[in-house]
Amino acid sequence: MNENIIPCRVCNKEVSNKAVVCPHCGEIYPANKHGRKIIKATNILLIGTIVSYILVAIAIMAIPYYLKSIFTF
Ligand SMILES: [Zn+2]
Repeated sequence: MNENIIPCRVCNKEVSNKAVVCPHCGEIYPANKHGRKIIKATNILLIGTIVSYILVAIAIMAIPYYLKSIFTF
């Protein structure tokens, strides 16, 4: 018995413990009980990063308008 082969979390068929996707049922990270939670946490981090980039971009784009409103009399 190869110790790197474990049953899939969903379909219980043999998969590698390093498999990203189960070849039998298509489950993501079949070896990891918390696979979906990890993916969700990663998505939240990614969305947070994208949102903060957008906010910074909006702030940078707003600076010329702000300066115009100060110096235009
Ligand atoms: Zn499976």
